[in-house]
Amino acid sequence: MTQNTELWDVIVVGGGAAGMMTAGVAAKNGAKVLLLEKNDTLGKKLLISGGGRCNVTNAEFDTRTLLAKYKSSDKFLASSFAQFNATQSIEFFNSRGMPTVVEDLKRAFPASHKSQSVWDVLFKEMNTYGVEVRSQSPALFLERSDGAISGIKLADGTILRARSYILATGGLSHPETGSTGDGFKMLGTIGHTINPANAALVPVAVREPWIQELAGISLQDCKISLFQFEQKVHTSRGKVLFTHVGLSGPGILNSSSTIGSLIPNGDVRIELDLLPQFDYGTLNTHLQEIFKINHVKKIQNSLSDLIPRGLVSIILTLSKIDPDTACNSITRDQRITLGKSLKHFSFQVLHLLGTDKAVITSGGVPLTEVDTKNMRSKLFSNIYIIGDLLDIDRPSGGYSLQLCWTTGYVAGLAAANNKSD
Ligand SMILES: Cc1cc2nc3c(=O)[nH]c(=O)nc-3n(C[C@H](O)[C@H](O)[C@H](O)COP(=O)(O)OP(=O)(O)OC[C@H]3O[C@@H](n4cnc5c(N)ncnc54)[C@H](O)[C@@H]3O)c2cc1C
Repeated sequence: MTQNTELWDVIVVGGGAAGMMTAGVAAKNGAKVLLLEKNDTLGKKLLISGGGRCNVTNAEFDTRTLLAKYKSSDKFLASSFAQFNATQSIEFFNSRGMPTVVEDLKRAFPASHKSQSVWDVLFKEMNTYGVEVRSQSPALFLERSDGAISGIKLADGTILRARSYILATGGLSHPETGSTGDGFKMLGTIGHTINPANAALVPVAVREPWIQELAGISLQDCKISLFQFEQKVHTSRGKVLFTHVGLSGPGILNSSSTIGSLIPNGDVRIELDLLPQFDYGTLNTHLQEIFKINHVKKIQNSLSDLIPRGLVSIILTLSKIDPDTACNSITRDQRITLGKSLKHFSFQVLHLLGTDKAVITSGGVPLTEVDTKNMRSKLFSNIYIIGDLLDIDRPSGGYSLQLCWTTGYVAGLAAANNKSD
């Protein structure tokens, strides 16, 4: 066992979004900071976030409305969001040379459309203020004495000491990025409660074998209806992405907990209305116009203004229409059937994918064990718990990374201010 005599002001464990943010904040506020990361590189999950584009926050500038997205955690988060909210997040990145663009549902992305831009800002900030980063340094165990953490033991036996510790080791989703639940184990061992993890925002596997042919196609705005034993039980709207095994995208992810609660009762079906902007009457008229304009064209070449080209073949198959039929030969009945297929694109649910494929996992450290102002543990006076480690339910749309920025900011600031305790 190697005893390291160096005393840090703050040791951050975990170099994901929350850990990088908090390390930069603590260092900027005068603390001598060490960041420990078990991977050879930082921020692997950050880089795959938002399909590599990183939905960096939700540009909802009314903090009350933003907080409501965190459901029952809204009151707990009020104090920290008063210190660092979506306005501050956007300002943080903009002022460090990363402009942002806001898309539908107020989702904010780097203007470069690359997660790497977010990573670059966080890394540069740490560098500017002298954070020491040690990669390939998995933390194993927290030592405690007299109601405080007295050291952290690494897998190689080294023991490191600091005045404050910030745990940012993430949850359990996409373990290949490094989030394998180590923080839950470390905190559980020293007496924190760990609420069991379940996949929270998670894609859905469906029965239709042809789904794999649709992989990669996305629909910006679908109406999503959930049926149990042919009874409609839930309706929402959002973006849908087809995968090799089923459905994903923000609209599906946000319905996944409802789908998960229906599955144990039996038969669950998802129905997509591909053209929610049209009712049946207007869709029928619209199809008539399309067929008139394209009267000599084959129907398979005439629908791509309406739906993505990759969906045309399956929609025509489901409508029992030969794709080579000329538009001027389409009968009224065929047109009505086609309209129905477009508004009732149906999938039989098999199961939710596992926690490993989830965007976030539910569960983690209950908020009752954490100080609302700064994420400090209520059990130990010098450890802070941030990011995906906290048990906070939220939808898809930039709310998870906002949580990393907010909890990272308040913990980094508080831990830095602890330095001369
Ligand atoms: C596919 C996907 C897409 C997503 N897209 C978005 C999006 O667009 N917008 C959004 O808001 N959210 C998104 N999320 C969620 C968001 O990425 C996470 O909420 C966020 O990255 C969590 O950050 P974190 O720092 O808490 O944890 P993590 O990013 O999981 O980082 C934890 C870090 O700790 C390290 N670590 C773990 N154990 C140890 C140990 N023992 N010692 C040292 N280091 C350790 C890990 O290697 C890792 O680097 C997405 C998630 C996924 C999986």
